[in-house]
Amino acid sequence: MADCLFCRIVRREIPASIVQEDEQALVFKDISPQAPTHLLIVPKKHLASLADSADGDAALLGRLQLVAARLAKEMRLSSFRLVSNNGKGAGQSVDHLHYHFLAGRPMQWPPG
Ligand code: AMP
Ligand code: ZN
Repeated sequence: MADCLFCRIVRREIPASIVQEDEQALVFKDISPQAPTHLLIVPKKHLASLADSADGDAALLGRLQLVAARLAKEMRLSSFRLVSNNGKGAGQSVDHLHYHFLAGRPMQWPPG
C-alpha cells in the first residue's frame, strides 16, 4: 500500500521510534502516547483492520498477541492493555491494523 502511513513506517520511508521487529511484526512508540508506555504492534503485511482479516491470517493475528505477551515479559509489566480500534466509530484513525499496547498507569473500565 503505497500511501499507507504504517506501511511507510514498515518500509522505513517515515521515521518512527522502533522498539523491536521480527519477520511479521514491527513495534514502535505511538507518536501521541496515552500512557507512560504506549506502543503500536503492527503487522508488516497491510490489513486495513481486524475486520479485514481472514482465516488465512490466523497465525499472524496470534503472532501479534504473542508479541504483546513478550513485550510485557521483557518490560516486567504485570498489567497492560491491548486495544485494537476497528472502524471510525471506535476511534480508528489509521487504516492499517494495529494493536495499542498501553501500560504504566491505572486503566479505567469501561473505556471511553
Ligand atoms: P488509531 O487511532 O486506533 O487508528 O491509532 C492510530 C495511532 O497511530 C494513534 O494513537 C496515533 O497517535 C498513532 N500515530 C499516528 N501517526 C503516527 C506516527 N507517524 N508514528 C507513530 N504513531 C503514530
Ligand atoms: Zn498499510
